[in-house]
Amino acid sequence: AKADGRGTYRFFETGMDARAQARRLLEMDMRAALQRDEFQPYYQPIRDVASDRVVAFEALLRWNHPQRGLISPLNFIPLAEETGLIIQLGELVLQSACADAATWPDDIGVAVNLSPVQFKNPNLIASVTEALEKSGLAARRLELEITESVLLQNSEATLTTLHDLRAMGVRISLDDFGTGYSSLSYLRSFPFDKIKIDRSFVSELATREDSVAIIRAVTGLGRSLGIVTTAEGVENDAQLELLRREGCTQAQGYLFSMPRPASDVALMLERPRLR
Ligand code: C2E
Ligand code: CA
Ligand code: CA
Ligand code: CA
Repeated sequence: AKADGRGTYRFFETGMDARAQARRLLEMDMRAALQRDEFQPYYQPIRDVASDRVVAFEALLRWNHPQRGLISPLNFIPLAEETGLIIQLGELVLQSACADAATWPDDIGVAVNLSPVQFKNPNLIASVTEALEKSGLAARRLELEITESVLLQNSEATLTTLHDLRAMGVRISLDDFGTGYSSLSYLRSFPFDKIKIDRSFVSELATREDSVAIIRAVTGLGRSLGIVTTAEGVENDAQLELLRREGCTQAQGYLFSMPRPASDVALMLERPRLR
């Protein structure tokens, strides 16, 4: 039994080594990729439900790897956050997104995701200011998306930063709404401009009646608080119809378009549906 135990332990340890090794390789690969300019934001349109017009694009980071192809942020953002590389990546997305958006019609906004780690960086305000000044993009056209995990950490300093950003004219959205522990209390801690209803509620609309009730409650909440509501992950007309009926302000999802490179923005503005 003792030998078994040791064998198991040794196996476990080897497994850990392999994982640590894979992470070290990924980290080295990411650093080289930053040098080689392999990261770029893709853009997904956000449509106003009532008028059916595109009002903004969300910037979604992609790693265009020479061997592995297009890599989703879900596969590298967690490690980028652990190693601090997210600061450089976040900077890259912010600067590129503002520069790209400055070339779009001036009623079209751009939404950028911010990692909680970026809020620990004292340069955040300076880098947002720089992105706006360098690009000439009006602050009101920039939306910053944060999740409630941002508010969990060091909330006083974070709230000050959020208020400063908002004082500059930048809009602040609460992303992945409904997936955390105490979403409602966060709505009282900061005057968000927008609530993004998590994709999980939209995807279950057809199969779960409680999802309809949740969408109804959140859109109603948005209306009474004067906050825009955006539904993510809209994939079919039935979902869009229901969102329209419930008075959800904006919709985003594969029904309209997958995230695409900046060079496809004109096409996405032209065509309501592009798949
Ligand atoms: P998120 O901010 O919740 O972004 C929405 C995700 O849903 C995106 O995945 C998008 O491609 C995907 N999506 C959009 N429409 C649909 C749909 O109709 N159906 C389905 N199934 N999915 C849809 P993506 O691009 O893989 O990004 C995943 C997450 O990675 C994002 O979730 C965000 O948390 C993070 N992320 C992406 N770009 C950045 C970035 O520049 N900075 C930071 N800090 N995080 C980022
Ligand atoms: Ca987002
Ligand atoms: Ca989201
Ligand atoms: Ca999400």
